[in-house]
Amino acid sequence: MKKYFSFATFLPELSLRRSGRLAHPFCHCHQSLSSSTLVMTPRLSKVVLVDMDNTLVNFDKEFGKRWAALRPGDEASPVLNREHFELEQNFSHELRPLAEEIMSQPGFFIAFQPVEGAIQAVREMLADGLSVFFCTAPLPLQYETCVAEKYAWVRKHLGEEFLSKIIVTRDKTVIKGAVLIDDKPRISGACPNPEWTHVVFEQPYNRKVNGVPRMTSWSEWRKVVIPLLSATK
Ligand SMILES: [Mg+2]
Repeated sequence: MKKYFSFATFLPELSLRRSGRLAHPFCHCHQSLSSSTLVMTPRLSKVVLVDMDNTLVNFDKEFGKRWAALRPGDEASPVLNREHFELEQNFSHELRPLAEEIMSQPGFFIAFQPVEGAIQAVREMLADGLSVFFCTAPLPLQYETCVAEKYAWVRKHLGEEFLSKIIVTRDKTVIKGAVLIDDKPRISGACPNPEWTHVVFEQPYNRKVNGVPRMTSWSEWRKVVIPLLSATK
């Protein structure tokens, strides 16, 4: 049995709506009493999926810092202007174990700084009535630290109420949404025609990708994302 009622005090989007600062509220929201978990059903055309590593959080900066601490003689960080999306592919066969060791260090994923402007952009999207989910593909071999610390990162930088906005998946094509903002050059999976439009978040390894919407910084989100949402049914 479902009982419908307002729970605007629980979530920032709805708090904004209550305060009158949210112009376009969700189509409908409800809480199922069959579970203590809040269940939201935002309109699909307003769902923005945001990748975490090197889109929301600065993965490469933290990695480079740790690499330099271990190998101070290296002239430049091997991830600076890296060519390949998969981080370990930017290293020689001999150095890959060290790269994997760094990514496996407890505290690595929680140490990331937010990408400049990302937190503000997420809050602006919510204030504009959009529904933001963090759609992230954890590193399989580092799952014990990676997944837990991604949740901890979101709580630390955005707040506990955002923990229910995390989608952990190795296949983003099966996730629904209007837009996916992601630094990965090309996203493939079980669904050949995902619901979302991929907005490439610029990084050195995706600059050769042409013919797709692109964000070079978070300050551009409205200019890039809003027209795509308008085109979504
Ligand atoms: Mg990423």
